[in-house]
Amino acid sequence: MLRMTLPLERRVIPTGARSCRVAIVGGGFSGASLARQLALGAPWNDRQIIVFEPRAGLGAGLAYDTSDPALRLNVEASRMRAIPGEPEAFARWLEAHGWKDHDPDARVGNGSIYARRSDFARFMAERMQPFLDRGTVQHVRERVEEIERSDAGWCLTGSLGTEIVADIVVIATSHPGPKAPGMIALALNGHPRFITDPSRTEALSSIRPGERVLLLGAGLTAFDIIASLRDRGHDGEILAFSRSGLLPQPQVTGTLAPTGNFVLPAVSSARELLRRVRLAIAEAERSGLPWQSVFDALRQQGQTIWQVLPHAEQARLLRHLRRRFETHRYRMPPQVADLIRQDLREGRLLTRAGRICRVERGPHAISVDLIVKPDGIIERRLFEWVVVATGPDHKAAIGSQPCLVELERQGYVKADDHGLGIACDTESRAIGSDGHVTDGLFVAGPLARGTFGELTGVPEIAAQSERIAAQIIKGADGCRPIVHRS
Ligand SMILES: Cc1cc2nc3c(=O)[nH]c(=O)nc-3n(C[C@H](O)[C@H](O)[C@H](O)COP(=O)(O)OP(=O)(O)OC[C@H]3O[C@@H](n4cnc5c(N)ncnc54)[C@H](O)[C@@H]3O)c2cc1C
Repeated sequence: MLRMTLPLERRVIPTGARSCRVAIVGGGFSGASLARQLALGAPWNDRQIIVFEPRAGLGAGLAYDTSDPALRLNVEASRMRAIPGEPEAFARWLEAHGWKDHDPDARVGNGSIYARRSDFARFMAERMQPFLDRGTVQHVRERVEEIERSDAGWCLTGSLGTEIVADIVVIATSHPGPKAPGMIALALNGHPRFITDPSRTEALSSIRPGERVLLLGAGLTAFDIIASLRDRGHDGEILAFSRSGLLPQPQVTGTLAPTGNFVLPAVSSARELLRRVRLAIAEAERSGLPWQSVFDALRQQGQTIWQVLPHAEQARLLRHLRRRFETHRYRMPPQVADLIRQDLREGRLLTRAGRICRVERGPHAISVDLIVKPDGIIERRLFEWVVVATGPDHKAAIGSQPCLVELERQGYVKADDHGLGIACDTESRAIGSDGHVTDGLFVAGPLARGTFGELTGVPEIAAQSERIAAQIIKGADGCRPIVHRS
């Protein structure tokens, strides 16, 4: 048993005699889901599934590790299909844990439940606990700083000194948080009212009720911040600023059947996909169905659509349609949609599109010049706070992690061609700089989006972790010999 109370002790856990040891780097939903699938899939010795995760719980990660009651899931509870084979598990858990009493606002319109994200974290933690208690899964509360390959296997070193040797490593670190646009970061670097990581607990707590806030970004991250601020009694002006001006669309309440077929015949270009989506929406509307049902079909078929598209068409899709797709695919829960509508109506929330051309620190406020689309008129505005709300920094998936930078340097991993994460094959095995699969190294969760396309939501990640687990278990008895890259 690791003694976590002695964090600086250097501990070396020897590799198991015959069976595989799997080290999972990152214990958010992707890492935890995989650990659970592995634990269920085969008999393991103690300490053979090790999850490195600095957070206290497994399964929460960036998305759900929050105590903020204003932050809700973006989809209905019944669609959080987190547990393969038990599609209703989370909805049933909510019922059993009395959501009606502790969170009556979860219910909207026709009875759909949009639960708090913190409840999903609790659900996942409970699902992981039996494996932790039994010792099948071990949680090492450290960041992995180094991963090295040797004859014995992969050697991982944690931030508090734990070292383990594993036969298989799974990278489940996801993307780093948002990055402030260069000019603004330069102008406001170190400013006490410049919040670069709003996901940090209490990051927003110093913002006083009437203060003016500039949000850099107008997607779901920005809308989370608005919900969170309003819930704390903030009633000042908020301006959500983005390059495109496109805002996330609302969920519709009620159960929708996904509508549209984009895989038979296969779509061969971005233009054709757009045309077929438009046709499907027109058809859905003729049948009295909202456009959301078409985007639900796109999501369901997303991996197949992406994988049959030629590389150049994937790139075209990202270049021309990504933002528009994302605002329709990642929708806001009805509670947040109501709040945003009301704020827009009352003029407390403003939105602008364009770019920022000047930022100046003042004694009491930050002065910002916005070049506003479509006319290019310059608006000068004063804010007490500037908050980065641009969403994950996809391009820094490797660069933000010293252990991945080193793996890249040694040729074991590389960024995928679209800059969405880490290159892997359709079996989620990492691809090295020579274009070949790196034995014993997998990529789990949204980091593998370059290969799979649609791999952000809980159901898709759960399905991927089921596949990776099956593959690891299949090969576990004869863990392949280590091959060094020259
Ligand atoms: C705000 C938000 C809301 C969302 N809401 C929904 C929703 O309602 N429904 C839905 O289906 N999907 C939703 N998603 C999408 C989806 O659930 C997430 O993308 C998913 O949880 C990703 O999990 P992950 O484990 O890959 O990444 P993360 O949650 O980012 O977890 C990665 C973990 O790795 C750890 N880590 C990082 N580096 C290291 C290291 N070097 N060593 C050890 N550990 C490390 C981090 O501490 C972190 O906990 C949401 C996503 C976000 C960001």
